[in-house]
This record gives sequence, C-alpha cells and structure tokens, in this order.
Amino acid sequence: MNIPSNYKVLFLQGGGCGQFSAVPLNLIGLKEDRCADYLVTGTWSAKAAKEAEKYGKVNVVHPKLDSYTKIPEPSSWNLNPSASYVYYCCNETVHGVEYNFVPETNGVVLVSDMSSNFLSRPVDISKFGLIFAGAQKNVGCAGVTVVIVREDLLGRALKECPVVLDYKVQAEMNSLYNTPPCFSIYIMGLVLDWIKNNGGSAAMEMLNKQKSSMIYDIINASNGFYVCPVETACRSRMNVPFRVGKKGGDDALEKEFLDGASKRGMISLKGHRSVGGIRASLYNAVTLEDTKALADYMKEFLKEHQ
Ligand code: PMP
Repeated sequence: MNIPSNYKVLFLQGGGCGQFSAVPLNLIGLKEDRCADYLVTGTWSAKAAKEAEKYGKVNVVHPKLDSYTKIPEPSSWNLNPSASYVYYCCNETVHGVEYNFVPETNGVVLVSDMSSNFLSRPVDISKFGLIFAGAQKNVGCAGVTVVIVREDLLGRALKECPVVLDYKVQAEMNSLYNTPPCFSIYIMGLVLDWIKNNGGSAAMEMLNKQKSSMIYDIINASNGFYVCPVETACRSRMNVPFRVGKKGGDDALEKEFLDGASKRGMISLKGHRSVGGIRASLYNAVTLEDTKALADYMKEFLKEHQ
C-alpha cells in the first residue's frame, strides 16, 4: 500500500462499528471546538455520524439526501475550517455508492471508512489522517480491524476513551495491549500474501473494474429490465445493487431471480433488507469467472422474461 513511514498500522477489535466510536474518541478533540464534518452518503456513514454525536458536534456538510444514490457535488459542501476532521465512507456497502476521488479538505484531517473497498484499488495514504477497515470483505475474516493512522494524531484521545480503543496505547504496544484476534490476523496475513503475489492493489483494481463493468454493462443494456438506482459517476465496483422488473422492481420476479441464482450455486445475492432488490458483491475473492457466471445468468434471465 506504500504506507509512508510516519503512519502506524494497528490491528484492533470491535469491527467497523467499533471505529465509529474510536474515531471521535481519539480525534474529535484535535481542535478546541470538538466539531467534526461528516459526509453522509449511505447507511454506514449515517451510523458513524450518529455515534460521533455522543462525543462532540457533528456537522453534515451537505443537505440530507432523500435517497443514498449519489455523492453531492463537492463544490456544494459546507466544510468547517475549524473541524477536527472530515469523515466519509469510501464505499457504502448497502447502497453501492463509492467515491472515485479523494475529498479535498483544505488541510483538515481526512478520515475514511474503507471497510468494503480496502485493497481493491491503490490509495494515496499520505492524503489521509486515518483509514480504517474491517477485514471481512477484502482481507480476511471478521474479528480484526485495520487502522492506518498518521503518527502526529496519536495521544489526542478524550479522557473517557476506553483504553483498548486508544490508538496511542495500541500503537505503543504494537497492537498487543490486550490479546489480539490471532487467527483473524493470521488469515489476513495469508490474504495479503495472495494479493501481493497477484500483483497488489493495482492488479486488484484492474480486475475489479472488469468485474463490475461486466455487470453494469448488462444493466445498462437491459432497456430498463435491470435498474441500478446509483448515479453513474459513483457506482461501486464492490457492491452492485439493482432491481429486476420493468417497473423499477418486481418482488415476484426478484424472488424468481434469486431462486434461479441459488440453483446455480450463487447465494447471498439478496439486497440489504433496507433497500430490497438484488446486490452483487464483487469483493477481491470473487473471480472473473464467478462474475461471468452471474453475467451469463442475468442475460439468460433477461431473455426469458423481457
Ligand atoms: N463500514 C462499512 C462500510 C461496512 O460495510 C460495515 C459492515 N458491513 C461496517 C462499517 C461495520 O462493520 P462491522 O460489522 O465490522 O462492525
């Protein structure tokens, strides 16, 4: 990942949700106002913002979105120059909204939840104060959460910060303040080797582009039979949500789609309960061949039901 030498890499517990608390507990006191800017573009950033409200003032930098299908134009963001940090979720797993750019914060510390697109593409770490990611999508199994944090941000935690969530303590103890989730870390080590041996994050990016294009191309060419509600510029390469049926989603047809997929060994394609429809998750472990199997099935289903 080309992590610069002035960053620490921590292996913590508590998942992505644990970091929703750890980030404000460690960073909201960076400036006196105890204020943080949040971009709320989906379920996960909404949850993070809600959690941060316990520890300081949260400013959502854009008007509330009616539906999580877009990223508001950066020129319209109302960033607070005295915020302690600016927070965003790089890939909204439930809604399939992904940032294809790094937000400009004019010097304010930038924090990103990369739980569901970590190591799916190269990232310029030097632009960030902190990145975190639960392992269970792209780099292993649940239980371990990676935190990459710039050293000058350590030691600024609020006094009520639980010791296991205190980045400075964990950095000083080499992530061994308490018993680490050894097995999850071991599996992550194997996955990191696998990524490295397969060309690293640049190679992952190429594959992920190919895989997601394969599915989006079918959606786009389906004449409205498959509909992805997300604006083209921020469609996720990791999670492709779509509805099946001409009227923007037909429950019976979607059930038939899922049953047929299941018969072919493709499971867990049901969309998150909060959005319905279908969601194809194309994490690093999903191969081109796997994706082609789904693409072929989508084409066949379209032909049969159009
Ligand atoms: N952030 C994102 C982007 C996620 O996708 C998830 C989990 N799906 C979380 C945070 C929460 O992670 P955890 O379940 O590990 O707490």
